[in-house]
Amino acid sequence: MWDVLVLLGAPGSGKGTTAGDLAEVRPDWIHLSTGDMLRDAIKSGSPVGLEAKQCMDQGQLVPDEVVMKIVSEYMEAGPTDAVYLFDGFPRTDAQAQLLDEFLESSGKGHVSHVFLLEVPEEVLVDRIAGRLICRDCGKVFHRTNMPPTKESMCDDCSGDIYQRPDDNRETVLNRLKVFHNQTASLIDYYGAKKILHRVDCLYRDRALDAILTIMGPKS
Ligand code: AMP
Repeated sequence: MWDVLVLLGAPGSGKGTTAGDLAEVRPDWIHLSTGDMLRDAIKSGSPVGLEAKQCMDQGQLVPDEVVMKIVSEYMEAGPTDAVYLFDGFPRTDAQAQLLDEFLESSGKGHVSHVFLLEVPEEVLVDRIAGRLICRDCGKVFHRTNMPPTKESMCDDCSGDIYQRPDDNRETVLNRLKVFHNQTASLIDYYGAKKILHRVDCLYRDRALDAILTIMGPKS
């Protein structure tokens, strides 16, 4: 069976970083980031990538059906027994419903935990506008809070460090608006199902510890 865990939060709340930290402690969980999958699709020049690029460059969401198709194809090609850690999906009520329908119709599992990563709004913009990412291993740096030791070079793998094209101040503000208008309602959606857990994500270790405590020891 599949057990689906969801990291929910505004852009800059630390979904990717927390997923990366969790991957070190729980390598048995499969990390699925729709943002990364869409960026890969853009890089490969696929039709999905071409459609996604326009939306992403403007900080808008990619259509629900497009994202659901990528996720379902990925899961169907993977193991039948797995814990999936979703980062950045679902992002709308419609996506959450499509996901529930997909899981129900396949009879293969359900969403068991949703972690809402909470960070004060004023911290979010600064986090994203200063964010730098390694092109090769995906490690995340910050221009001022956590700069790489050598400029433009990843401390871990010596890969090239870059700023995501949608991580500029103007697009960030738009992405925050999109979060409030289209994603925040998921707090009620999953709250009503009693599977929502609020996690303080201002400090990295605290968020990690909180999630691991809620999930309990490795069986
Ligand atoms: P992220 O890497 O999660 O910050 O996502 C970057 C961008 O990819 C978003 O601003 C959206 O344009 C697109 N994206 C990622 N995940 C989704 C999703 N679940 N639904 C729609 N668009 C998405």
